[in-house]
Amino acid sequence: MDLVLLGAPGSGKGTQAAYVEAELGIRHIASGDLFRENLRNQTPLGLRAEEFMRKGALVPDEITIAMLRERLQRPDASTGVLLDGFPRTMEQAIALSAMMETLNREINGVLYVDVPDEALIDRLSGRLICRECQTPFHRSTNPFRTCPRQACAGEHLYQRVDDAPETVRARLTTFHRQSEPVIDYYRLLELLATVPGCGSVDEVRQATLEAARSLAKRG
Ligand code: ADP
Repeated sequence: MDLVLLGAPGSGKGTQAAYVEAELGIRHIASGDLFRENLRNQTPLGLRAEEFMRKGALVPDEITIAMLRERLQRPDASTGVLLDGFPRTMEQAIALSAMMETLNREINGVLYVDVPDEALIDRLSGRLICRECQTPFHRSTNPFRTCPRQACAGEHLYQRVDDAPETVRARLTTFHRQSEPVIDYYRLLELLATVPGCGSVDEVRQATLEAARSLAKRG
């Protein structure tokens, strides 16, 4: 089972991805996490991606596609993946179909977490992330209590540089321009399930899992 999870920056897709991963037993692969990991390790790929990430711009397709191609070939991706943050451009979507074909697989469904821009801006400016396990929290709506995967007490929380207000606006503009065509493309292919992303984390979780289960049944 291979699924794609789409949503604007701040739509909560990272939070929901963890639930879907646990429910369906497929590997969550987030392109943003892969870039940040490369940056932390100062790899050539990370260093090339850095200037784009800082501006809130997309990393060029050629770099992103190569990174995902390599990731999808690792053994832990062999029984199914939940792709989060990829594809974000039509070129990436087309490349993804070709990669899956090479692996004798196909994308079985696409979840789109839909949230209006005003809510996105509010969420991103309050977002805090655990550097160790990437779990996102929010200063007011989802404050840190315990870390689900690490025995830490919040000492690894940080605010991403690209969550600064002007960068947030740039990321939303990029999303509308580059990623909305991808959503339309998957809708045309009848692979898209839209989940309203505005309720509480729990409400969105239920709606996401319901949509994921029905996509899984079809796949
Ligand atoms: P968000 O969804 O909140 O913007 P991500 O963690 O998914 O955050 O991505 C952070 C940054 O990594 C993006 O702003 C972009 O620079 C880069 N990035 C992630 N995924 C892609 C992608 N599919 N194509 C190009 N750049 C990407």
